[in-house]
Amino acid sequence: MLVMKFGGTSVGSVEAFTAVANIAKQKVAEQSAAARPGVIVVTSAMSGVTNLLIDAAHKSAQGDVEAGKEAIATLRKKHMQVIDHFLADAAEKRQAERHLDGKLQELERICGGIMVLGELTPRGLDLVSGLGERINAPILAAVLRSQGIQAEAVDAVGLVVTDSVFGGAEPLLEATETRCRAHLTPLLEQGVTPVVTGFVGATVDGVPTTLSRGGSDYSAGILGALLDADEIQIWTDVNGVMTADPRIVPNARSIRQLSYEEVAELAYYGAKVLHPKTVIPAIRKRIPVRVLNTFQPAHPGTLIVDRSDSEEHGTVKAVTAIRDVNLITIAGKGMMGMPGVAARAFAAVSGVGTNILMISQSSSELNICFVIPQVLVHRTLDALCKEFAREVQRGDIERIDGHEKVVIVAVIGSGMRGTPGLAAGVFGAVARHQINVIAIAQGSSEANISFVIGEEDAATALRAVHDGFELEKPTTERVAQR
Ligand code: ASP
Ligand code: MG
Repeated sequence: MLVMKFGGTSVGSVEAFTAVANIAKQKVAEQSAAARPGVIVVTSAMSGVTNLLIDAAHKSAQGDVEAGKEAIATLRKKHMQVIDHFLADAAEKRQAERHLDGKLQELERICGGIMVLGELTPRGLDLVSGLGERINAPILAAVLRSQGIQAEAVDAVGLVVTDSVFGGAEPLLEATETRCRAHLTPLLEQGVTPVVTGFVGATVDGVPTTLSRGGSDYSAGILGALLDADEIQIWTDVNGVMTADPRIVPNARSIRQLSYEEVAELAYYGAKVLHPKTVIPAIRKRIPVRVLNTFQPAHPGTLIVDRSDSEEHGTVKAVTAIRDVNLITIAGKGMMGMPGVAARAFAAVSGVGTNILMISQSSSELNICFVIPQVLVHRTLDALCKEFAREVQRGDIERIDGHEKVVIVAVIGSGMRGTPGLAAGVFGAVARHQINVIAIAQGSSEANISFVIGEEDAATALRAVHDGFELEKPTTERVAQR
């Protein structure tokens, strides 16, 4: 059994729907001969739709009467193009149109409600932002039926049970598994391909939630793991996970194999291909995850497997950069041997909802520095100054400040573990270009080395590391050379 998730661009146009239908047709045929047959399709909203919905919700909260109406007109046109193109059968077309208009009416009502309240709650936002998937799944199911696939739309609001953290809900696995077995397994047994909405779920009480932006990948990971899929496929618009961002490093190439751990590090450090949580559900059951290109389906893409199942124990696999971050420093001679500074600092930071991307402390204990998203700098510095007001007054802490316009560069590969000389390779490559390194951290997993540099040096550093480790060559070739 196969779970195939199609992202926003894969369902972004009539041409894209055609590509998806062809891929689905082939996989459904292939799977019918499998030991455990069946395909589950998970779909995103059409590209741009989630942003449009979120924007309309915000504008409605600000009293913009037209926002909801404009969004509805755009959404209707966008989806009707697909319906008109594929659904020749009058009954199918009528049903699809009725469904679309029903959902658009719902959007109008919700935007009206938000406007009356003059406030957009996280709960209200989830109700709106999940509509893109809920509009699209029945359309995709109808398109697949028009191409001869027995497909049926399933709304994950009735399938994926989550906690009530709106905007970033976590699935309650037991309850979700029960529902998946009740709703999806019978369809598979009848040879039907369920087309499930990604991104959305609902609380135990049935209130719609979302799994955070880009969460359709995570939906596929959850369903695949709970139903013991043979493979989870993430169909996107690039040839898998790349060694670096090809817009910055022109000779970047697609990585053939990654371990779960490596892909988690990559996602964490800003590679945009996969939602960071996608592989988590798959790990325990060791289900392979494959990232493939809808527009180049013959390309092998990237296969993500358990480290022990991986045939590629290369050294470095990829290099990424996180931008729009700020390096916060807490420094002072009085900090030496002062217990609890780090704990208090991080408690203050998390108290204002700031996530920390990287931490570095010198062993002299004279300073702690850490990297946070730029947008959260003000509130974070305020919280830290308040927390350490006494120490600052006494002079134990001399400065608490931020360092703007920096980036984190992360060099990733679990093959770095226990391999001496890799850090030297990384920093040698950077030093040859006279790039000043501001802070360094290595995860104890040894699957990454990350460092902070000025924004102006980012592109050069990425290329230097990529060239230094010859990442343009296939991993197997590089390993053979060593
Ligand atoms: N449509 C959602 C988003 O844009 C989820 C997804 O595409 O994965 O964030
Ligand atoms: Mg995505």
